[in-house]
Amino acid sequence: LAERLQGTLTKIRGKGKVSEQDVKEMMREVRLALLEADVNFKVVKQFIASVREKALGQEVMKSLTPGQQVIKVVNEELTALMGGEQSKIAVSSKSPTVVMMVGLQGAGKTTTTAKLANHLRKNHNRKPLLVAADIYRPAAIKQLETLGKQLNMPVFNLGDQVSPVEIAKQAIDKAKEDHHDYVIIDTAGRLHVDEELMQELQQVKEIASPDEILLVVDAMTGQDAVNVAESFNEQLDVTGVVLTKLDGDTRGGAAISVKAVTNTPIKFAGMGEKIDQLEPFHPERMASRILGMGDVLSLIEKAQTNIDEEKAKQLEKKMRTMDFTFEDFLEQLDQVRNMGPLDELLNMMPGMNKKGMKDLQVDEKQVGKVEAIVRSMTTKEKQEPSIINASRRRRIAKGSGTSIQDVNRLLKQFEDMKKMMKQMTNMSSGKGKKKGKG
Ligand code: GDP
Ligand code: MG
Repeated sequence: LAERLQGTLTKIRGKGKVSEQDVKEMMREVRLALLEADVNFKVVKQFIASVREKALGQEVMKSLTPGQQVIKVVNEELTALMGGEQSKIAVSSKSPTVVMMVGLQGAGKTTTTAKLANHLRKNHNRKPLLVAADIYRPAAIKQLETLGKQLNMPVFNLGDQVSPVEIAKQAIDKAKEDHHDYVIIDTAGRLHVDEELMQELQQVKEIASPDEILLVVDAMTGQDAVNVAESFNEQLDVTGVVLTKLDGDTRGGAAISVKAVTNTPIKFAGMGEKIDQLEPFHPERMASRILGMGDVLSLIEKAQTNIDEEKAKQLEKKMRTMDFTFEDFLEQLDQVRNMGPLDELLNMMPGMNKKGMKDLQVDEKQVGKVEAIVRSMTTKEKQEPSIINASRRRRIAKGSGTSIQDVNRLLKQFEDMKKMMKQMTNMSSGKGKKKGKG
């Protein structure tokens, strides 16, 4: 999708406003990409319609090109489709909070039970009790026991001769006795949804009255995942979904459809087999991942909150008129610093980790050197770099603890940068349209 969109983007870059044709073109690509990612076609259809409407109705923000604007809308809508906000795990007002894990065989219930316990202890300072209630799958109990040992956490286990309902009941009593604040019940799954399984799960639900029923779904199964989610939800009223195996080669289509079809929030994402590879699910990040464009929105937001708008405007003007000085440069360096580590920022920019750009690594040390050089300049020199002759260069190098070559290089780079910035400003403000061959 990233490449597709970028192609379309290049075409409409530099335009002053979003035309119907632009949106249409982009929407075609988005639609194809979503279908390719195995998103339910009904969901895709609705989605496209709402994005088209929103994208066309909007004024183009000053800071964005029309292409970016459309992407922004797509991203926002995708995020909304996946639940918008990050959805947290339930906490009961009276301890213990009971969590019941359900799902098909192999989805990752047992693994996720352990991962979740680890997460709750590590990040929320909780004391969970793991409950082995899958009495059917050979070795399921042993699997949980092993994970419990690895975590150094107790596992409640009555063997495979006691019914899951009884296990759940006794486990909760035990949890109260031992002051556990979470009980996580690992239940059995089947290869397919069947009546018998659902009945048993309903009985467990009745006795345990869980605060949270987490449906564990394998993201690799795409459309099937959605059907599974639908039937489990009908029978059990699940309160949240855990999407596992998102580390695999999946495009994330399941993530979009599951929420849209079942209206149940995705709460966690499994990112690998290891016990610490469970993450709270962030709709926004998933949207960006699906769009393959890096964390564009976070970047935009960061830029918006950190760069003083007035200053940014002045700066833009200066850059266009070639007045940009080393003083401005220092100021800008500080602003960029406030936004976070440079390499992190670069990584968030679309296209930065593609097309060989990943070789472009920002060396903070190098930046420090540059800063030292600039700070060794006099005010006059900063404002008017052209006066920096050989003897001034020598003085600056000495003052900054660098070499004359370093100073020469920076002065040269600064000139180049000014030129580049000029081009960039023209491009993004739409004024350089005639220059581009679009
Ligand atoms: P259950 O039958 O639902 O209890 O599934 P298990 O917890 O036994 O997991 C089935 C398989 O999926 C195991 O080999 C797990 O290691 C693997 N698995 C679970 N979650 C993830 C995940 O997020 N990523 C990857 N790569 N593998 C996972
Ligand atoms: Mg299991």
